[in-house]
Amino acid sequence: MSATQPPRCPCGSEQRYIDCCGRFLENGETPETAEILMRSRYSAYTLEREQYLLMTWHSSTRPSSLELKRSPSQHWLGLTVKRHLQSDIDNATVEFVARYKINGKAYRLHEISRFVRENKTWHYLDGDILEA
Ligand SMILES: [Zn+2]
Repeated sequence: MSATQPPRCPCGSEQRYIDCCGRFLENGETPETAEILMRSRYSAYTLEREQYLLMTWHSSTRPSSLELKRSPSQHWLGLTVKRHLQSDIDNATVEFVARYKINGKAYRLHEISRFVRENKTWHYLDGDILEA
């Protein structure tokens, strides 16, 4: 890491990582909204932070592990958040497009994710993948 050019956040916010998703991944802060949680989870995927992903997954749908290291050829390229809809105080959806490459071929994941808030903490519940 260079002292003059701190790394930008992988989520594409154009902020410094430590001012953006790094607040949650490195400093243990709690994301204020479902969209902020969603961005931090994208950053966690790019950084292979499996523990963070599991911790922010709702207990009813959480897998036992993600085995992120099993797919080393997947490279994340960027995130676009299209819509954040908070339907009530404890429920929200976030529509996003995440782009990635596997073995030089580009893909896009277009998903509407559902989030629920429990004990004042947002969790990822599940999502619907939209066809291209
Ligand atoms: Zn970020």
